Amino acid sequence: MFVLFLSLTFYSCGKEKFEARSENRFLMGTICILTLYGGEGQDIYDGVFDLIAKEDRLMSLQREDSDLGRINRAAGQKAVQVSPDTYKVVESALSYARLSGGAFDPTIAPLVELWGISSGNPGIPPAPRDIEEKKLLTDYQKVAMKPDNRIYLEKKGMEIDLGGIAKGYIADKVKQYLVEKGVKRGIINLGGNIVVVGSKPGDQPWRIGIQNPFETRGNHIGIATVKDKTVVTSGIYERFFIYQGKRYHHILDPSTGYPVENDLASVTIITDKSIDADALSTSLFVLGVEKGLALIESINGAEAVYVTKDRRVIESSGSGKIFELYDNSFNLVSLDAYKSTLKQ
Ligand code: AMP
Ligand code: MG
Repeated sequence: MFVLFLSLTFYSCGKEKFEARSENRFLMGTICILTLYGGEGQDIYDGVFDLIAKEDRLMSLQREDSDLGRINRAAGQKAVQVSPDTYKVVESALSYARLSGGAFDPTIAPLVELWGISSGNPGIPPAPRDIEEKKLLTDYQKVAMKPDNRIYLEKKGMEIDLGGIAKGYIADKVKQYLVEKGVKRGIINLGGNIVVVGSKPGDQPWRIGIQNPFETRGNHIGIATVKDKTVVTSGIYERFFIYQGKRYHHILDPSTGYPVENDLASVTIITDKSIDADALSTSLFVLGVEKGLALIESINGAEAVYVTKDRRVIESSGSGKIFELYDNSFNLVSLDAYKSTLKQ
């Protein structure tokens, strides 16, 4: 599938004249949008989309010939050599699995496929017996990282899914590519995984909208004001199905085998590297507000904004300097105020 969309905006800022040009493609199962401001040629846009397609070929769970396809098929049999990129992302995924106490777990793939929420969505929950069976295959401690970029899954039937982290890694790679090509400013948006390059024309920070989880895409609850940062959201609105009035979304709890059932609608992470933001957004969603904010406070330079299903917004201590809530149908509450309602 392939979607191509061009848009051009010309504007001036002081004496400088800028041309904003966006190009979209459907890659990694999502819309990827690249917006550049310096009149860059088509070769830069093509280079970026080729890079995304190449990385996706390595890290896609759906492709049999991807690095993941090969590791997964050899589970319980042998170690498989993968590209340095895939090796790095699996290593990072495992470190986030440890950091989150298993809330983030890249060996969740058998459950992800059973639920099928991101692929071929069956619209009906799987049988509890099947969930129990696949849950036994989810255990990041059974991934052995071997020398020479080789990876071994210790149990037959185990599988790795990098859906919670790969987009962030690829977005960082795109930024690196753009910077190497001399691009000074731009926005990379890989299905809501946003990375900004430099600052806006006029050296102003970028204003990145944070999605309202209850409205269609493009409706924002507020704005993150950033330069050279990434803004990544995990939410119940991204991929889901409704069965008998209940929503089943794509973020699974490895301890239950079911979509996470908590009071959250979304969590957004703002930090420097998109690989970290991506892994953290999924981790913090699974961990919930209290444990998630405790984790984010322990990481320098990372901020989180939680949105609950009852329209409350709870943020990490440094987030106030970056994030501004402007939709007053949501209430900004302190962690203490949030906690006190839990105890009632
Ligand atoms: P994200 O949208 O970044 O939060 O990632 C969600 C995707 O990550 C899902 O579509 C799955 O492919 C995968 N995933 C779901 N639950 C987990 C989990 N607990 N740990 C790691 N990856 C997950
Ligand atoms: Mg993620």
